[in-house]
Amino acid sequence: MALVTKAIKGTQDILPEEIYKNQFIEQTVLDIARKFGFREIRTPVFEHTELFQRGVGETTDVVQKEMYTFDDKGGRSITLRPEGTAGAVRAFLEHGLFNEALPQKFCYLINCYRYEKPQAGRWREFQQFGVEMLGAGAPAADAEVISLANEIFAFLGVEGLELQLNSIGCPECRKNYHNALKEYFETKKDELCPTCLGRLEKNPMRILDCKSPVCSSIGKDAPAILDYICDECSAHFESVKKYLDKMNIEYVVNPRIVRGLDYYTRTVFEFVSTQIGAQGTVCGGGRYDGLVEELGGQHVPSLGFGMGTGRLLMLLEAQEIELPKPSGCDLYIAPMGENASYEAAAIVADLRAGGIGAQTDVVGRSLKAQMKYADKIGAKYTMVLGDDEIAQGKAKVKNMDSGESFEMELSEIADNFMEFLVRQETAVLGESLDLEGIDLSAILGQI
Ligand code: ATP
Ligand code: MG
Repeated sequence: MALVTKAIKGTQDILPEEIYKNQFIEQTVLDIARKFGFREIRTPVFEHTELFQRGVGETTDVVQKEMYTFDDKGGRSITLRPEGTAGAVRAFLEHGLFNEALPQKFCYLINCYRYEKPQAGRWREFQQFGVEMLGAGAPAADAEVISLANEIFAFLGVEGLELQLNSIGCPECRKNYHNALKEYFETKKDELCPTCLGRLEKNPMRILDCKSPVCSSIGKDAPAILDYICDECSAHFESVKKYLDKMNIEYVVNPRIVRGLDYYTRTVFEFVSTQIGAQGTVCGGGRYDGLVEELGGQHVPSLGFGMGTGRLLMLLEAQEIELPKPSGCDLYIAPMGENASYEAAAIVADLRAGGIGAQTDVVGRSLKAQMKYADKIGAKYTMVLGDDEIAQGKAKVKNMDSGESFEMELSEIADNFMEFLVRQETAVLGESLDLEGIDLSAILGQI
């Protein structure tokens, strides 16, 4: 196929027919985040390459292999963001938000870019919902952030996700662990991939995160971090677990989780599904107490998570969870003749101003062809508007499902159609519905 009509490998189009699912998820996560006090932050798609080298870490897969980095025309090294934390922390520092009430709670829906091998659940452009809580060191914060992710899954009705939890300690206790890991991996040196051979000196824990089958199988028998963490980190971890118990959030401790960023400390977690293939991690996050300092700020203990909305959608599909599909067209007005076409244009304009999804003919089709089109776009009601109807000031509105017709005054249709629609759609509730003072458009959005 010609290049111009083929999207780049690892990218996806989301077509109008499907977009309602994304929109529903986006609205849901922002609404839930708002309840927890997380407010949206928007940062640029690209940043200085150095931000990610420092903020994600030189020994990570992301920085070593996956970044879209290029020089711009001014000769600066620019990188398309591979994740959201670094940009959020940069903004926190640049705008002095550390002087505001802490914790600062951010959330975002962003596209991320990683040069990875495209496969099911792994794209080169993908969307993440992320949250960051800056300036909160206590275990209650960890539990709160985890419970936010948990609530999103619960709200959407997703089942069978396993919350896997680990603590990777602090830089102090990790020293001993690094030594133990080094000792272990030294004996397997010949089998490690070239990248991990380099990590052996700089950051042996990264080897546990390697995707190569050989390295990950060697990693299975490596010493476990939980045997090495200090008393304070251990007490912190115990407390996180106690909060989760108290909140009835189930988890399993998985000592193999180390996560993909270098600056993670203490709690790390993943929500993992077995239903969407090999890329089963729908959400991953943890504490990064060292990151703000690493980027030039004070010591600001912080944490967050990233949730891949594409993987979440795959999971919803696997579990056959239907998301509400908004109606594209509440009323289609089919004019017959030029005069009626002008009238129809005026009526749909009034209907739309009143919150109704109204459409009319804009291509000069015959009545038959218009009805076919109305059917295709899923119009709930149709109305044929001819010279007779205009002369009488009345027309029939037809329910496309039941075939039932209702006569309406043309001069009042814009004012009355919303209430008519709500009454029709909620007819099961009975005729005596009192709609006085109720926001009808809000109801309409729900039915
Ligand atoms: P993985 O182990 O799957 O590579 P990761 O540790 O690199 O994940 P994070 O950087 O923690 O992932 O990103 C958070 C979430 O973003 C992941 O849990 C996943 O849902 C999603 N994600 C990461 N990379 C991709 C990708 N290439 N395509 C689609 N979603 C992704
Ligand atoms: Mg990855």
